[in-house]
Amino acid sequence: MSLKNEISPQDAEPPSGQDLSSIEVVLETTTSEEQLFIKTENLSSDFNVTGFSTVVFREKFFPLVTDRQWNSWRWQIQNSYTNFRKLSELFEISSIDDFDFLSKSRKLPLRITPYYASLLYGKPKDYALIKAVVPTRLELIMSQGEESDPLHEESMCPVENLVHRYPDRVLMLSTGFCSVYCRYCTRSHMVLKDKKHFGVKAWEKSIGYIRNNPKIRDVILSGGDPLTLPDKHLEFLISSLRSIPHLDIIRIGTKVPVVTPQRITTQLVKMLKKYHPLYMSIHFTHPDEITAEVGEACRRIADAGIVMGSQTVLLKGVNDKVDIMKELVHKLLKIRVRPYYLYQCDPIPGSSQFRTPVTKGLEIIQGLRGFTSGYAIPHYVIDAPGGGGKIPILPEYFQGRDGDNVILKNFEGNTFKYYDPV
Ligand code: SF4
Repeated sequence: MSLKNEISPQDAEPPSGQDLSSIEVVLETTTSEEQLFIKTENLSSDFNVTGFSTVVFREKFFPLVTDRQWNSWRWQIQNSYTNFRKLSELFEISSIDDFDFLSKSRKLPLRITPYYASLLYGKPKDYALIKAVVPTRLELIMSQGEESDPLHEESMCPVENLVHRYPDRVLMLSTGFCSVYCRYCTRSHMVLKDKKHFGVKAWEKSIGYIRNNPKIRDVILSGGDPLTLPDKHLEFLISSLRSIPHLDIIRIGTKVPVVTPQRITTQLVKMLKKYHPLYMSIHFTHPDEITAEVGEACRRIADAGIVMGSQTVLLKGVNDKVDIMKELVHKLLKIRVRPYYLYQCDPIPGSSQFRTPVTKGLEIIQGLRGFTSGYAIPHYVIDAPGGGGKIPILPEYFQGRDGDNVILKNFEGNTFKYYDPV
């Protein structure tokens, strides 16, 4: 496989099949994310859906921006809100907690695409999506049990940026960059530094490790967000993995379809569908995220045959109500995304503002089970601190035994006996 130390235009026809020799990729990323996008700049995009709130926002804040620019995911990243001064265009300064303090703080980076900012504009400061992505002073409060790498992933890396926790699957941290930074991110210790892409050379050890371990049948590409990689880099990575005979499935963990839906171009899905079986775990937080743009992005992904599941973090004051979660899961099914996981928020530093009691998660699952389609109900899990892996938490539908019967409780709280001789 040849690696050329140059970047070719993103929009060139992607190479076909497993022939990696024709994929031109950057050997090492030495420029910042924005510089990389400027170098490869080609703003053409076939994304053409714009929701009403986005139109209003664009007219006010980006009146001279063309459809072509707005619908370019590179333009979205290049023009993201990355400082409080710029963000104050959207909110009254007084509505941002401790604006002066936060604007000087280097501990609290932020990044919000103009598209996602359009969902926040004009909303009160306790609006769910604002809480999810706009920093506050509360992030500086350390509470008991919090640590920067609560899942101890760094201790489970046989090679850099590859987490091998379970016997048959690995998590590959493909980049340190995200197009939006979530304030409760489990990997905030690596992504909140606004790191640049690692570059292709940094993947070689991970790909080699997977190739040399035949028990690995499933790889999850995460980060950071792999869909912030240029198409050619992403294709290089996925096609390299697909050439490993014992690797059954490749999963992409991403929030890009939610925060930068313009990234889901026809060219991207055309490239991805060459490497089936491919799954996508999309990070949704709230029903208001499901807009016309996100519906279009998910339609394209589903039409490419990629199975989508949602991963949602349970967040205090954001989505910790049965009604909100029910609306979210119903909207997800309508855009062909299966609710997959509901995560207890991990105890990263400053996360107490977001963490709910475990009973809240159980209350939500109980409020869904029996009251909506089984397809709409995610698995509620706690990722055990210290690296214990995901542990499912279930309401007590199984109540125990009575001789040859088991005692069961249904969704209405009524008990039933099921004959089940010992
Ligand atoms: S998109 Fe995922 S990896 Fe990126 S900041 Fe949000 S939670 Fe973290």
